[in-house]
Amino acid sequence: MQVAHKPVLERLKILADAAKYDASCASSGTAKRDSQNGKGIGSTEGMGICHAYAPDGRCISLLKLLLTNHCVFDCHYCVNRKSSNVERARFAPQEVADLTLAFYKRNYIEGLFLSSGIIRNSDHTMEQLVETARILRKEHDFRGYIHLKTIPDADPGIVRQAGLYADRVSINVELPTEAGLNRLAPDKDAGVIDGAMNTMKQAIVEAKDARKRFRHAPRYAPAGQSTQMIVGADGANDAEIVNRASTLYGQHRLRRVYYSAFSPIPDASAVLPLKRPPLIREHRLYQSDWLIRFYGFSSAEVAQAADHHGMLPLDIDPKLAWALKFREHFPVDLNRAPKEALLRVPGLGTRGVAQILSARRHRVLRLDDVAKLTVSVAKIKPFVVAADWRPVLFTDRADLKNIVAPDCNRQLELFAA
Ligand code: SF4
Repeated sequence: MQVAHKPVLERLKILADAAKYDASCASSGTAKRDSQNGKGIGSTEGMGICHAYAPDGRCISLLKLLLTNHCVFDCHYCVNRKSSNVERARFAPQEVADLTLAFYKRNYIEGLFLSSGIIRNSDHTMEQLVETARILRKEHDFRGYIHLKTIPDADPGIVRQAGLYADRVSINVELPTEAGLNRLAPDKDAGVIDGAMNTMKQAIVEAKDARKRFRHAPRYAPAGQSTQMIVGADGANDAEIVNRASTLYGQHRLRRVYYSAFSPIPDASAVLPLKRPPLIREHRLYQSDWLIRFYGFSSAEVAQAADHHGMLPLDIDPKLAWALKFREHFPVDLNRAPKEALLRVPGLGTRGVAQILSARRHRVLRLDDVAKLTVSVAKIKPFVVAADWRPVLFTDRADLKNIVAPDCNRQLELFAA
């Protein structure tokens, strides 16, 4: 039977299931756009988009779909690789546009996340992805969120078009190291992926510049570009992953790097591990990512929190792990320390630090004042000095970890504030 003739619902089931391995679908950070004046369909905010995330951090408010799970590539970690024995299906761009509109009107979704296996060749696939977004935007004035995956080795001219219609574009680096990519995705090339990200960065920068000068210059990928790394499929340790992510943020001005714990797939290739890494490892990497983006840590400092194998502890968060290793930086005086030092205190989040900085302009802070800004003041006590509190020999204690993180279920949370 021709795959194209399968009923729509059957294809939807296959292609939505095939897309579930991609984590990079969060819809944050795009431009305000709606249809409240009666023009167009959809909205990127308010009642339109509810930022619903599954407990593991994945966004669940988008229609997340592959255009096709046919693929001419043979990436070992991918269930859609050409040697995989899965049921295949394919949508035409018009069909995906129709489904998106139908689901949107029923209030099932707030937007579209569209990726694809590579059919025929990279250019053709990229054209089909762009065409889907074009139909939605141009023919239906769809104003909901669109995230398009781009194909790195497609013609840069076609890749650039994606940003004209999509809020966010992404190109997956797939694996943290070039060696890992060569081994597990032999058809892909780290240099080509880097080049495509660079092309997209330049297009975004140029478009931003044009909008500053010309009020009617078109929006271009207002939610920027992101990428995804698979964790645990190759031998890369956490320090290497964090370092790669930090380089990507710096070089390509990415909005987000997403981490996806490798999940074993049916008929897995023998070069893959048999078990998925613990999900908490993915969580620790996200916390490290936040340390770099919002807490002033460098990737080298995050790596210092890792063990001698380069792995972050799973039982405590990386900020606490760093503080326990570098106790000479503590205690921090809540009334005098600069913002950078306060951000290093385990248990203090960015909001809590902002509130401390604001409150201490008007009064001298006591421990009770900080109690409202953290999940547990008992846990930050070893690391801070207040008007009525000075820890005595806490940071010299060999059992400090047990005091501040008695068990991993009740451990100090990095973003508590
Ligand atoms: S290019 Fe690789 S990762 Fe992407 S669908 Fe094909 S086999 Fe899977």
